[in-house]
Amino acid sequence: MDSSQFREAAHSAIEEIVKYYDTIAERPVVSSVEPGYLHPLLPEGPPEEGEEWSKIQSDIDRVIMPGLTHWQSPKFMAFFPCNSSFPAMLGDMYSGAFNAAAFNWICSPAVTELETIVMDWVAKMLNLPDCYLSKGEGGGIIQGTASEVVVTAVVAARERIIRRKLADMEEGEEKLDKAAEMRGKLVALGSEHAHSSTQKAAIIAGTRYRSIPAPQEKGFRVTAKALEKTIEECDAKGMIPFYLTVTLGSTATCAIDDLEGIAEVAKDYPDIWIHVDAAYAGSALVCPEYQHHCKHFAHFDSFNFNLHKWLLVNFDCSAFFIRKRSDLTDTYTLTPSYLRNNFTDKGLVTDYRDWQIPLGRRFRSLKVWFVLRTYGVNGLRKFIRNHVQLGEYFHGLIESRPDLFTVVTGPAFGLTTFHVNPPRGKEVMGDEVYETSKRRDELTKEVYELVNSKGEFFLTSTVVDGVYVIRVVSATPSAEEKYLKRVFEVLVEAAEERLGKKAI
Ligand code: PLP
Repeated sequence: MDSSQFREAAHSAIEEIVKYYDTIAERPVVSSVEPGYLHPLLPEGPPEEGEEWSKIQSDIDRVIMPGLTHWQSPKFMAFFPCNSSFPAMLGDMYSGAFNAAAFNWICSPAVTELETIVMDWVAKMLNLPDCYLSKGEGGGIIQGTASEVVVTAVVAARERIIRRKLADMEEGEEKLDKAAEMRGKLVALGSEHAHSSTQKAAIIAGTRYRSIPAPQEKGFRVTAKALEKTIEECDAKGMIPFYLTVTLGSTATCAIDDLEGIAEVAKDYPDIWIHVDAAYAGSALVCPEYQHHCKHFAHFDSFNFNLHKWLLVNFDCSAFFIRKRSDLTDTYTLTPSYLRNNFTDKGLVTDYRDWQIPLGRRFRSLKVWFVLRTYGVNGLRKFIRNHVQLGEYFHGLIESRPDLFTVVTGPAFGLTTFHVNPPRGKEVMGDEVYETSKRRDELTKEVYELVNSKGEFFLTSTVVDGVYVIRVVSATPSAEEKYLKRVFEVLVEAAEERLGKKAI
């Protein structure tokens, strides 16, 4: 493809993308294909001769579209959103055009410097404590996903505690043996509601993992007391807690751990690396009404949120802020001769490869820069507040039918969880509580499956404290009240249908 063919192809692709976005609400939100649908639609191998773009493009509709779930649809209310925007797409387009594996500053100074600057802009926009700004000892880096950030933090935390505990030992076999012995005792901690990425990171880091209870009566939050108790239990067993994920906006219910209490406990355990995972809800910190949470981050080691979830930056874009960047570079800086250069040697520049696991990196700051400039801080606040209000509206609808539904959590950052109320039939006797909860869970699951099977909306469910709940979060760019009104109607119809059958 030469440049004039590219111009023509790109115009045509953009036309198609615009049409896709303009009609997204009319498409069935979830793909209805069967597993393996794609194989019969494609040849067994690549073509021997190159094909025309028009032929390739026509396969988007024929081959790809049927297998897409439309995450940008206003009828997508599942998981957490993964929002896109046109300025972010333009950023990705330029990034693709300038294509570089910009691991060192010298690989493309603009890639590093823009990232440092926009991460400082983001930190200021969220009112993060100054320690997370690049002018001091901290700073921000863009990584792919929250899971990648957590692995980066857990491995760095593991090495940090070993460095600290064995600081007085001379380098050599004895120290290596001692480090290996210590590694076997290290334990990473997280709420029982922390995202599974923390447990996965502990597996990758080769350490143990232990969850901290955060029951319903505590609002699904880890309290300072629960944390202290877990740490004491670990100590008693000879285990060494070295890392903790604190969650701001848990996946199931958007719960926030007791940041203030945990910050107090942190003072007694300076060797535990505390990371705040705000993958979804962190975007709400652009609004001053949520920024009171941020002051506690000064007592923690790192923080991340995904701009690709709720802040209009296309996947992938997880902002990772670190209070002391040497906590990363002390672990990840390895400079073989082929990576050396004068700028690095003189310590004049940031080489982001030393803050992350991979070497190469993309020009992701462009899309953040474009989004921040296109919407402005006020535009982003408006975007978030709209979704928070929609969440409150939906919560009100659910509460308006206490005969059918019970809210379990929320609205929190747009997310409400609820269950369907079981009928109290004559057959409920004996162990009544057990029977009722079993029927409640079965019924809620049936209603959930019925709604999704109709294909008009896409919802997810989860289990919190043993209760099966439906989760609804409507936070895509095209979300509107009318869709929440409609999903509520569909839920009511489904609940009445199922309850009607049960009551007979
Ligand atoms: N942390 C929380 C609280 C999440 O809700 C999620 C995903 O929804 C993650 C981490 C993982 O995100 P990622 O897909 O960026 O790894």
